[in-house]
Amino acid sequence: MASKTQVNPDREVKKVRIVEEPTTASNWQHGDIDWVNVTFVAIIPLVGFIVAFSTPLLWKTAVWAFIYYFLTGLGITAGYHRLWSHTSYSAVLPVQIILAGLGGGAIQGSIRWWSRNHRAHHRYTDTMKDPYSVQKGLLYAHMGWLIFKQNPNEVGRVDISDLNHDPVVNWQHRHYVSVALTMAFLFPCLVAGIGWGDWMGGLIYAGILRLFVVQQATFCVNSLAHWLGDQPFDDRNSPRDHVITALVTLGEGYHNFHHEFPSDYRNAIQWYQYDPTKWSIWLWKQVGLASDLKTFRRNEIEKGRLQQLQKKLDEKRSTIDWGTPLADLPLLDWDEYTTRVAGGEALIAIAGVIHDVKSFIKDHPGGKALIASAIGKDATAIFNGGVYNHTNAAHNLLSTMRVGMLRGGVEVEMWKRRDGKSEMAGVY
Ligand SMILES: [Zn+2]
Ligand SMILES: [Zn+2]
Repeated sequence: MASKTQVNPDREVKKVRIVEEPTTASNWQHGDIDWVNVTFVAIIPLVGFIVAFSTPLLWKTAVWAFIYYFLTGLGITAGYHRLWSHTSYSAVLPVQIILAGLGGGAIQGSIRWWSRNHRAHHRYTDTMKDPYSVQKGLLYAHMGWLIFKQNPNEVGRVDISDLNHDPVVNWQHRHYVSVALTMAFLFPCLVAGIGWGDWMGGLIYAGILRLFVVQQATFCVNSLAHWLGDQPFDDRNSPRDHVITALVTLGEGYHNFHHEFPSDYRNAIQWYQYDPTKWSIWLWKQVGLASDLKTFRRNEIEKGRLQQLQKKLDEKRSTIDWGTPLADLPLLDWDEYTTRVAGGEALIAIAGVIHDVKSFIKDHPGGKALIASAIGKDATAIFNGGVYNHTNAAHNLLSTMRVGMLRGGVEVEMWKRRDGKSEMAGVY
């Protein structure tokens, strides 16, 4: 790690901002804390929990709180994320307005701010330019990036010109505070109050505690989904697929797929995987509320999955002893081979490769005598069906016994020993 301070000759020693340092137990309290964020993600939920002890929970309010959790969650997943950050489908104006309002009720910043960060997260995943990089720590990716002020120069640059021209995005950005407070607290309180007279329960359970759950669920996409699960499409970065993350995030848990195919309106591609956000968008399409649902071609998805499988296979393959590669084996003449056998070595030539079977003779499933009879010979035919057609396992085992290659592949007269040649010369 570089020095913690930068010396400026004209001024006093300037401290590097806390946001440039990893968060540790010793420096967290000195950080540039974003108190507005802390209020909405920690203080208000804490007050809500305390007040909840003296607020009875009516079953109608509990059901409403759950429904509103789902709706505001959908505002984030189907709205902020898949519609605006990734433009993975188009929605009619009323749906856009409803999603902008519901997403506002999850108090996670405006669509514009959220999508800008999210696009940087995709473009610069796991780097310092990723605003919630899991490399900065699991807790930092979960909430730390909101609690400590971000160094704006550090977040990677992305194009949000499309959002700058989007009237709904601009309207929501301009009136963000009113939208957020109305949709997070006032609206759920009004529904429960006017509906069945439970004003306080509406505010505490469907408002504050529901808000806490939606926020934590969304934060899990940045932390848990980059930490827990499988990587069926690419393991070079941190995104992972896991059903637990999917369950708490309305289907955003198939995050390895999502980072590989971000403009696909689906996060889960199997019918049995839990992705209610995808189901909702698909339903809207059936009734004419959504269109232009983008999907990657199945061929491309399967290509990615197969490449990752191959990579895993290759990694596993590299841990197995396949025997010395043929190209690395020393070359022996036939006479050298027989001379070494005469000298007591238990060598057998099969298909041009010489094997040392000494330690295997006593274990040979076909019997000690049979294998011993092949020593010093070319046993290619015997091994490959002459006596018994050996199994794949036997072929594999044999390859681990390789010690040399036979020059010419078989017994070749012209490559006999020099002394043999001189004897021949004496004859003629
Ligand atoms: Zn991610
Ligand atoms: Zn995304």
